[in-house]
Amino acid sequence: MRTAICLFTRDLRVHDNPVLQHAAQADRVVPLFVLDEAVLRRSAPNRTAFLLDCLRDLRGSLRELGAGLVLRAGAPATEVARLVDEVGATEVHVAADVSAYAQVRENSLRQALNDCALLVHDAVVTAQPPGHLAPSGKDHFAVFTPYFRRWSATPLRPIAATPEALRMPRMRTGKLPTREELCPGELSPDLPPGGETAGRDLVQRWYAEGVADYGDLDGGTTSRLSPYLHFGCVSPIELIDQAGDSEPERAFVRQLAWRDFHHQVLAARPAAGHRDYRPRGDRWREDPEAFQAWCEGRTGIPIVDAGMRQLATEGWMHNRTRMIAASFLAKTLHLDWRLGAQHFLNLLVDGDIANNNMNWQWMAGTGTDTRPNRVLNPTRQAQRYDPEGTYIRRHLPELADLPTRALHNPNHMDPEQREARGYPPPIVDVAEANAHFRTARDQRSSSA
Ligand code: FAD
Repeated sequence: MRTAICLFTRDLRVHDNPVLQHAAQADRVVPLFVLDEAVLRRSAPNRTAFLLDCLRDLRGSLRELGAGLVLRAGAPATEVARLVDEVGATEVHVAADVSAYAQVRENSLRQALNDCALLVHDAVVTAQPPGHLAPSGKDHFAVFTPYFRRWSATPLRPIAATPEALRMPRMRTGKLPTREELCPGELSPDLPPGGETAGRDLVQRWYAEGVADYGDLDGGTTSRLSPYLHFGCVSPIELIDQAGDSEPERAFVRQLAWRDFHHQVLAARPAAGHRDYRPRGDRWREDPEAFQAWCEGRTGIPIVDAGMRQLATEGWMHNRTRMIAASFLAKTLHLDWRLGAQHFLNLLVDGDIANNNMNWQWMAGTGTDTRPNRVLNPTRQAQRYDPEGTYIRRHLPELADLPTRALHNPNHMDPEQREARGYPPPIVDVAEANAHFRTARDQRSSSA
């Protein structure tokens, strides 16, 4: 009798899940999630709360298929090995993943499972498996455009069928902890609900209504699928498969390719999660007060502050403001990108080492950007992407009645009006700081 353990990790779905599909081919299957408390204690409360929603939803879906979700707490390899003995499992199925944590987990599982097979399934977390597309003689693409060309030309794996029914041995499944037990920290007030059901509803609405307006800060909209993709509540392959051929749909699919791109960079260079991918000889400044002002959304630069306030209240930020806020921290303030990346990870419900830290490196010019010395000008960005100031007004209500000109450029803000609204003056002369950054980088590039 074949008994398989289906170890869920970042694939918290029953649709298009090759891990579940393959495990379900055994005579009996035991769906399992291990709450690694050592990790959860360090993780962002926003993400832990979302994860708990995902697990509750997954448990419901598995029950409908005639099984349940076994929950264990502890180190994944130890807990899996224990369950293998308990149920006499002959195989453990798990998704391939790229972070250093996931790679350590996979190695520990390999060591802990003696006679039991470990089957690692590709193209579950990403659409194209990291490492499968690579330029000849190299282990990854370092530039997006050629990667995207190859990515677009490579067929996707077929969609995995959802099992019609699961046969699970009778056993205790364990209790799902409450939010309070697992994430006593403070949560952002406007978090989205987690789980595959909510994720699939969002996908439906996105393709039916949202994608036509896919766009930037002002008026446009984005899918907000990132947390569902991060936890695998929705499958990137199903998303690509459902996309039509309209221009916004193609632009959306391109963003999914960016996701795969960053994952394949991190898979090849796990240290790039923390170390400069391409060191530029930066001597980052230390300025705890400026960092604090940035975290709190009180830099005096409205477009930066609006983004940082959105992060605090929603645990999510629009891509455009992530870029502006990151460029401002790393290039204008010249503070170490790792500080900013960590602050994002402390709050983002979609916080993800591959996407977050590789995008931070891109913005800091230490990553894969082919023009690493360019600096975003917040005024020009705000004028271009939030021309009416709608986004700024939404997230900085204290400035809502000021003229748009003043929202775009704080030099046009009347100091008395600013003070009356309790809004700070700019903590830095942006033009001067940006020029200083460019000169310093150019000098280092020419002497390198
Ligand atoms: P949409 O525009 O609807 O895009 C669809 C999906 O494509 C997203 O859900 C995401 O999975 C992917 N995607 C979009 N843009 C990018 C991108 N630039 N890089 C990689 N994937 C992308 N994304 C995360 O998922 N987690 C992070 O921790 C994260 N941190 C970031 C930090 C910085 C400094 C920057 C500049 C970007 C970061 N991003 C991160 C990428 C991007 O900002 C978010 O994926 C996007 O804003 C999520 O919103 P959405 O789902 O509505 O995106």
